[in-house]
Amino acid sequence: MFAELSSKAAELKDRLEAFMTAHVYPNEREILSESSRGEGRWNPHPVVAELKQKARAEGLWNLFYNHGPEGQGLSNYEYTHLCELLGRSLAAPEIFNCNAPDVGNMEILSTYGTEAQKQRWLKPLLDGEIRSCFAMTEPRVASSDATNIETSILRDGDDYVINGRKWWITGAMNSACKLAIVMGKSDTSAPKHQQQSMILVPMDAPGLTVMRPLSVYGYEHPPLGHAEVLFDNVRVPAENMLLGEGRGFEIAQGRLGPGRIHHCMRFIGLAERAIEIMCRRALSRTAFGSKFADMGGVRQVIGQCRVELEQARLVTLKAAWAMDRHGNKAARNDIAVAKIVVPTTAGQIIDRAIQVHGGGGLSEDFFLAEAFAETRFLRIGDGPDEVHREALARAELARHAETAH
Ligand SMILES: Cc1cc2nc3c(=O)[nH]c(=O)nc-3n(C[C@H](O)[C@H](O)[C@H](O)COP(=O)(O)OP(=O)(O)OC[C@H]3O[C@@H](n4cnc5c(N)ncnc54)[C@H](O)[C@@H]3O)c2cc1C
Repeated sequence: MFAELSSKAAELKDRLEAFMTAHVYPNEREILSESSRGEGRWNPHPVVAELKQKARAEGLWNLFYNHGPEGQGLSNYEYTHLCELLGRSLAAPEIFNCNAPDVGNMEILSTYGTEAQKQRWLKPLLDGEIRSCFAMTEPRVASSDATNIETSILRDGDDYVINGRKWWITGAMNSACKLAIVMGKSDTSAPKHQQQSMILVPMDAPGLTVMRPLSVYGYEHPPLGHAEVLFDNVRVPAENMLLGEGRGFEIAQGRLGPGRIHHCMRFIGLAERAIEIMCRRALSRTAFGSKFADMGGVRQVIGQCRVELEQARLVTLKAAWAMDRHGNKAARNDIAVAKIVVPTTAGQIIDRAIQVHGGGGLSEDFFLAEAFAETRFLRIGDGPDEVHREALARAELARHAETAH
């Protein structure tokens, strides 16, 4: 399963690492600092805009994309190695046009969009000129079961009319966000998984209101934000429908596979960096006459972090390899395993690094507190752990159904 990286991927990886060192880490604090930006925080950060141009000029752009010449044509297995690097900083993904939720939306438009939809929305997304959001979750219903979604998308002449309320819509606060991919029901009398559709909605469509930002442990994640969004008789042309009425569930499955594994790849990088700074801290501080690095308790923690991170990396690499080898659908169980293992493992490692840093670990002086919040969110986002365990159990039990006695 484990192959050497191609020379192209290895060369990109080296250049990405050099770029991170020269431009991302030195600007990270300024980019992520929320408090200093006030009302303007929902506008693209000027430093990010500058670094995006630089990254693009250096060919470090759309690293995830393998649907055409706008990307680098890497396999999922190869991209895992690069994505781990850019996952080391929460400021990095957008600089290389590899950030959620735009990546998932670009995948959707590439796979299911018409030529006209691609020209209008995919091209500016691949160029990093606009941003987008994906609107599925609703405050009124348990949205981990997507069949509960209540937003309506109803045909009216040459248009569709959309009514509903969404929340936790990442990216919707951003002034550069121009497109929402909205999931709703177009036919409540159809079979359970054919009631849903996805439709393209310009953010400036009359009746679409971004109501308020939500925060994760107090982090608002500007300029993206996570918003509550109201759709009140929003009217869009019928050609904005993706793939066709009743195909929303099918698209959602296609989108979430790669999206989930990209989060896992990034978290491996985040946890790796947490171990690094935990070790540096342990080597530089002394209490009760001993260096932390000489204390048995701290050494056990560091060793255990290495064990768990290697396990998490292996399941992520295996899922990426299975996607390349067998396709996203056949790899869904491997993706589910990684999606359960990695956020929990990365969260535990980061939490231990916080502990070794004492009070400093909870402050904004280190990246740890925000990184912990990020890993905690992913035990719920893109499907809670329980839902993935349930899917795994279903698959396991089905394998043994015929030999039950
Ligand atoms: C920071 C952040 C960003 C997000 N970004 C987006 C976005 O961009 N777009 C979007 O549409 N959504 C987004 N979400 C929403 C996220 O996808 C949902 O929160 C998630 O799918 C769970 O839905 P819910 O919140 O309605 O929880 P519920 O469906 O109410 O579930 C609550 C809990 O019930 C338990 N549970 C559910 N099903 C089972 C089961 N089968 N077995 C056992 N226990 C179960 C789980 O513990 C689960 O956490 C985001 C969320 C967060 C926190």
